[in-house]
Amino acid sequence: MIRINENYTKLKASYLFADIARRVNTYVAAHPSKPVIRLGIGDVTEPLPPVCIEALHAATDEMSQRATFKGYGPEQGYAFLREAIAQHDYAARGCAIAADEIFVSDGSKCDCGNIQEIFSTDLRLAIPDPVYPVYVDTNVMAGRTGANVDGRYQGITYLESTPANGYVPSVPAGAADLIYLCFPNNPTGAVATRAQLAAWVAYAKQHKAVILFDSAYEAYIRDPEIPHSIYEIEGAHEVAIEFRSFSKTAGFTGTRCAYTVVPKALKAFDAAGAEHSVHALWNRRHTTKFNGVAYPIQKAAAAIYTAAGQQQTTALINFYLENAKLIRSAMTKLGFACIGGDNAPYIWINTGRDSWEFFDRLLNEAQVVCTPGAGFGKCGEGHVRISAFNSRENVETALARIAAALK
Ligand SMILES: *Cc1c(COP(=O)(O)O)cnc(C)c1O
Repeated sequence: MIRINENYTKLKASYLFADIARRVNTYVAAHPSKPVIRLGIGDVTEPLPPVCIEALHAATDEMSQRATFKGYGPEQGYAFLREAIAQHDYAARGCAIAADEIFVSDGSKCDCGNIQEIFSTDLRLAIPDPVYPVYVDTNVMAGRTGANVDGRYQGITYLESTPANGYVPSVPAGAADLIYLCFPNNPTGAVATRAQLAAWVAYAKQHKAVILFDSAYEAYIRDPEIPHSIYEIEGAHEVAIEFRSFSKTAGFTGTRCAYTVVPKALKAFDAAGAEHSVHALWNRRHTTKFNGVAYPIQKAAAAIYTAAGQQQTTALINFYLENAKLIRSAMTKLGFACIGGDNAPYIWINTGRDSWEFFDRLLNEAQVVCTPGAGFGKCGEGHVRISAFNSRENVETALARIAAALK
């Protein structure tokens, strides 16, 4: 008899986006003349930068000729892309990351989800709340947690992001083995300072733990004091894996390209306490289960690192950040405490009341869709996330409607 992985039955069905869609559809059906503006989504809205389109066309032409056609490429990614990443994202910031410590993939969601399988199932987890749900759910699937009791899985240390700690959790009192951090944060938009990251690196060293550092929104950092990579912190090469994606950097959410950095200095241990190279384990896993990202897509990603590509992606991100600034300033003017939006495309608004109630009010009175914080975890209650991914016109219209409704 075929049996299921019963860990899947522990998963608490996430009704968040389905619930949002249902409420929005009900509203739209009842008020067909009132157009709704969606500021709830975590997806980009602007087209790919021209350098990427040119690279895609040129690479497609290469695929049409026997002399330049490409079949299977290296599973870890083409050298031209890995070298561009090592040079521009790391060497330029003073981080010694070699091209062969970079693994190109089709997304950070997959990488964040897959990485845990090279580690023991018997580990102490530390995971933020509120959170990008992938970190939690993939560990539930792997059997690293107990049941969900009152919205929290047994066996996870929740790193609470609250107004009291400025939404940046400090290291827990007890030990953890596998730690998830995400800065700039989704959903809160919070960033971690050099000192805060240094405390996490010291904690990981002390406990022989590994930090999984998701920096999908790194390109949104504008404050020169905020580290872009965990490897800007001394010693992080020995304790951290970093995830980066072209999704929010260059509008690749539908194009699919990302990478994971696993330094060769990173070690993990077997039950007898013997050291193993995490790089070797991930290389084995990646080359066994993955066959590489499409050549034209890797060419498009590499184009981002040209002078024109840097200029175009900076302009793209500045556009979203300008939206974010308008949103944060409008919500602050209405009397709400907000964070994010300055180094991230998300503004996290302390509504001081039930997050679904606030969601309904914005929908019914302003025809604007946000994301209720409760959907991201217990600590998200009392907050909503507003996303800067939209046209300027939609953002301005939405803010005018919110101001009129909440005045
Ligand atoms: C968008 C996002 C990613 C990127 O995922 P892709 O699969 O590369 O599109 C990763 N982490 C977080 C927190 C995100 O919000």
